[in-house]
Amino acid sequence: MDNLYRYITHDGSAVLNVLDSTQMIRKMEQFHHTAATASAALGRVLTAASMMGYGLKSPDDSLTLMIKGDGPIGSITAVADGMGHVRGYCDNPAADLPENSRGKLDVGGAVGAGTLYVIQDLGLETPYVGQIELVSGEIAEDITAYYAYSEQLPTVCSLGVLVDTDLTIKNAGGFLLHLLPGAEESCIEMVERNIKELPGMTEMLSAGMTADEIAGKVLNGLEPDFLDSAEVEYRCNCSRERMERILISLGREELERLAEEQEVTETVCHFCNSVYRFTSDDIRELIRSSTSVDTENSDNADNG
Ligand SMILES: [Zn+2]
Repeated sequence: MDNLYRYITHDGSAVLNVLDSTQMIRKMEQFHHTAATASAALGRVLTAASMMGYGLKSPDDSLTLMIKGDGPIGSITAVADGMGHVRGYCDNPAADLPENSRGKLDVGGAVGAGTLYVIQDLGLETPYVGQIELVSGEIAEDITAYYAYSEQLPTVCSLGVLVDTDLTIKNAGGFLLHLLPGAEESCIEMVERNIKELPGMTEMLSAGMTADEIAGKVLNGLEPDFLDSAEVEYRCNCSRERMERILISLGREELERLAEEQEVTETVCHFCNSVYRFTSDDIRELIRSSTSVDTENSDNADNG
């Protein structure tokens, strides 16, 4: 488990999330066997999604952060619940590029040009969807731009994933700072000054800095008060029942074809790569147990 901490400044002008997501991103690497650049890209998206999801109103709400670029990694998807637990995947976990000119993993190059989507399912009839064109594909900048343009919420985001030479994750983390309506100009200037002098997220984690210490640096001069904290983790909620629902959504005709042509049908969870096996008898039983199979098609957006 990792710990997500939230702070609010004494004058109520800013809320800051700080997350050391090292365990979460290690689990991601174990599930997906990501190459270094893909680890950084998917790891940054998961870290951001966790902090964004934790800001939702109810634990049952969910937030999907999707990056659709034209680079070698393809699409990246992360789903967070209202408690900050996340799961995710990318099209091409083997995507790997040489380091960029600053000696960093080239996440922007792996992502390419495209669009960032934020889909918030708040239990209403239709989910709320926001989108912006990617600024750099480096993720943190794109999230900052999303909040500025789509939600008119001045935001600073920093994300980092440090990959070791053996491709394991040394550390990972991020912070997400929102300036609340009515924030004083002086407060904004102070935050900007602080951020300019701030080391990178993985550098601070490598130095052993705690969330309190990181918050103290980001909000230096603004007296941050501890607001709340939560234990968060990479958590997949797939099950045989969920897979059955996805199979049923294919429709009776397709199921009959599967039962006819394949002795065993395998479905794989995108989020954790668990394999579920259905024999042709299992498939026939699904056909029998499901009525009006052709109209039930509700589980496609979240097929984990
Ligand atoms: Zn799963």
